[in-house]
Amino acid sequence: MKSPKNKKRRIDDSKEKLLAEKRRQFDQAYKNLEAGEDKLYEWLSLAGSIICKRCEGNEFTRCDGTRNIICLKCQSRQSFTSKTFFHKMKRATTLEYLFLLTLLDEGIEVSASEFERHSSVAYSTSLNMIKKCAIVIDKKMQEAGTRLAHCVLFEEIVFRRSKETPAREHPRSEQKPVSAEQTSQAVSVTKTFASVAKKQLRTVTVPVNMAKKVDSLSDVELEILSLLENGPMLLDHLHYEFGNRLSFRDFTSKLSSLAIKDFVADNGLYVVRTKKSMASPKIVGANLNPRLKESLIFFIRNSYQGISQKASQLYFALHWFYMNRTAWRKGKVFDTFMRSSPVTDKEVLNYVSDQVLRISKTYNKCSA
Ligand SMILES: [Zn+2]
Repeated sequence: MKSPKNKKRRIDDSKEKLLAEKRRQFDQAYKNLEAGEDKLYEWLSLAGSIICKRCEGNEFTRCDGTRNIICLKCQSRQSFTSKTFFHKMKRATTLEYLFLLTLLDEGIEVSASEFERHSSVAYSTSLNMIKKCAIVIDKKMQEAGTRLAHCVLFEEIVFRRSKETPAREHPRSEQKPVSAEQTSQAVSVTKTFASVAKKQLRTVTVPVNMAKKVDSLSDVELEILSLLENGPMLLDHLHYEFGNRLSFRDFTSKLSSLAIKDFVADNGLYVVRTKKSMASPKIVGANLNPRLKESLIFFIRNSYQGISQKASQLYFALHWFYMNRTAWRKGKVFDTFMRSSPVTDKEVLNYVSDQVLRISKTYNKCSA
């Protein structure tokens, strides 16, 4: 089921033609599902990924036109995609995955909307397929070595509104580049207090020069600050999380008092912690090469029109993938995915990026 909303998006004509041509070539090479599965069986066999679940044997006979294989050693019957990247994948999706891998192998960038338009899958499946592949690529990136950067450095792209998180606009105050003052290692203090709403001990971390000020705050004020510890929040949402113990009016008056004390700033709909009140972990990776940062931002804006915080790590992995065409020379994608272990749908749906993101150490010299 295709969503008509997609039509609103900016569509690049030459890219569309390229994708349509690639699809035509693919459909010609794989006239039907059986042809795709025959090729898949060949690739998985060559990669040594088909191993008997019962006796670990690796010689089989295949039942024609199905995924079933029979182990020559122990006669047990199983699916040849078992325990591979294609484990329990719907047969119809298999062919679409092969098309996606073909595009990746050729280094052709493709967003979920673009892939949806050139395949038989709906937008949500298309997005999940890209994420599933990116999880494998992210693992490869980690093996090659990564460094860390806090997501606050990329807020202009990761807080952009996306189909997944439609209401998320990021506050302008967070857009400012990290200043020299913030890149020095500020020493922080953590204040612990008993939260009434969450019925547990919670903490608020501030730079050491805010220690006295944080000591003077009431529990209600601390509670509000702790809710903002992980990033900006919609005013209504913040009030809801607070537990509706104060009327909306009293709640906003508490916010005003926190604003006067320089802990929070409100930005129309959103409430944010002020830069001044945020402690050092916010700036991990502040010394990132500005050209690399620019390249990442350009890539994500250009290809994906902004992404959700949840998936940001996966797009960083995709950037690494597309910028390293020598490392990912032709054939490498198929080789990698044929050897990959399964990535479950649950893993994709529950995927949440850390606040501190991994960025590859092994970018080509031109981009890093
Ligand atoms: Zn066996």
